[in-house]
Amino acid sequence: MSITFDPDTTTNIVSARLQDFLAHPQRLFINGQWVESSSGKTFATYDPATGNKLAEVARGSEADIHKAVDAAHATFQEGSWVRMRPNAREELLFRISQKIQEWADDFAELESLDNGKPMGIASAFDVRSAADCFRYYAGWPSKLQGSVNNPSMILAPPEAEFHSYTRREPVGVCGQIIPWNFPLLMAAWKIAPALATGNTIVLKPAEQTPLTALLLGRVLEEAGVPAGVVNIVTGFGDIGAALSSHPDVDKVAFTGSTEVGKKIVESAKGNLKKVSLELGGKSPNIVFDDADIPSAVAGALQGFTLNSGQACEAGTRVYVHDDIYDEFNSALAEAVDGLKIGPGNDPASDITPLVSEEQLNRVVGYLDAGKADGAHALVGGNRWGDTGYYVEPTVFTNTTPDMPIVREEIFGPVAISIPFSDEDEVIQAANDSEYGLAAALWTQDLSRAHRVASRLQAGSVWVNTYHALDSQLPFGGYHQSGWGRELGPESIDLYTQVKSVTIAL
Ligand code: NAP
Ligand code: MG
Repeated sequence: MSITFDPDTTTNIVSARLQDFLAHPQRLFINGQWVESSSGKTFATYDPATGNKLAEVARGSEADIHKAVDAAHATFQEGSWVRMRPNAREELLFRISQKIQEWADDFAELESLDNGKPMGIASAFDVRSAADCFRYYAGWPSKLQGSVNNPSMILAPPEAEFHSYTRREPVGVCGQIIPWNFPLLMAAWKIAPALATGNTIVLKPAEQTPLTALLLGRVLEEAGVPAGVVNIVTGFGDIGAALSSHPDVDKVAFTGSTEVGKKIVESAKGNLKKVSLELGGKSPNIVFDDADIPSAVAGALQGFTLNSGQACEAGTRVYVHDDIYDEFNSALAEAVDGLKIGPGNDPASDITPLVSEEQLNRVVGYLDAGKADGAHALVGGNRWGDTGYYVEPTVFTNTTPDMPIVREEIFGPVAISIPFSDEDEVIQAANDSEYGLAAALWTQDLSRAHRVASRLQAGSVWVNTYHALDSQLPFGGYHQSGWGRELGPESIDLYTQVKSVTIAL
């Protein structure tokens, strides 16, 4: 692992448009206006590569959540947004997708600065996927269909005739709470299907990474999203709680930790708002003895190091067949050793800083606990450097199934390599988790691929690949990884409700 860190270059902002954006105060977006928080308070957001402050951002309060929900509620009730013709709605979503692409370099640079991730990944994955998500949902408004039914109506006389049909209607005001690991993309996953189906929105970005959501607010405004349809309130967890308990919010969609997910369920009880949750994971990645080993090594590496491991679907439990265990581990350790650690704006960096000091301490806590519990750090195992929030990419061996590093989501570039001897045993071990977000397997045996895929308890199963996400494919979790599925047609279900209409003829 070699150093590419140069503190003098990390706060260089290349884009003039971004310099201009960051020179302005970062305000809340409520009812089509950029406003100060009602308390006048702000909070700082930092560049994780240096710990330097990037911007001061308005710190929303419960009063601001009330204002934003009032705006979203009034806009929904007024009706013209809900009744917007499908082709006009499609054009609007498509314009948003195009504008994200026009601003792609700015979004990538800002995401990299605020979150710490490699700018190349932000550009190739986060920003392109966000644009793709709006483009995909731009196709939906004209395809929202119901059914025509021919009911029997038990109590009606035999000669009576009825005409029944179903309609898909928006849920109403949606509170959307997103995390810091893929800030722009998570905003897109939430906002695009909600707009396609005629809902109104209050978005609460993560306190560590509020900036790309605010830049997206500018894009939405320029694209012509009517005032009050999307409201963005930045701040801390207290306003997430205010949003998820608000009586005029009809649905809350949350991505983040399982711990906070459970709080969301509690606070949604008051008005029984609809809830969808995309929570943590501890995903198994199984390498059978007939796998193409170089591909499996590359896939395992990408599985746990993408975004410095800060991905809910990260493949952190790598199960490797006994016969290839030593060979695989040496190849994986060598690959990890070849990774370059450095800031997100250096194109050579593979592993970039974690998002915050809090996250650094959390991950280092797991590294220390793993070593204290007797696990062996095959490679890595420590904090890296003393500036910025870096940790070494780490692979542990010699673990036992009860260790916290094996059971809990670490959210850093840390994997556990575990040997297995047969298919039943590894399926049982893979499924022995409170989570069930993703799973992968590496094999050349087609029958085994389908057999094992059907038995793994996870919302996404990947064969001979990892992180295979696409706007068309539903994503979400079994067990405590969440409720509901985002992306694909399934997200249309999350943001609509079905009404049946019956007419006596
Ligand atoms: P988190 O607390 O679950 O944060 C997610 C979002 O929820 C943020 O916008 C957060 O606001 C908000 N929030 C916090 N408390 C809330 C409450 N009581 N009611 C409603 N919303 C609330 O996650 P975190 O603390 O940033 O990260 C902790 C761990 O969660 C990570 O180490 C990782 O294991 C896991 N995580 C998972 C995902 C995922 O995609 N599955 C994403 C992020 C984190 P603030 O930002 O202001 O706290
Ligand atoms: Mg938090």
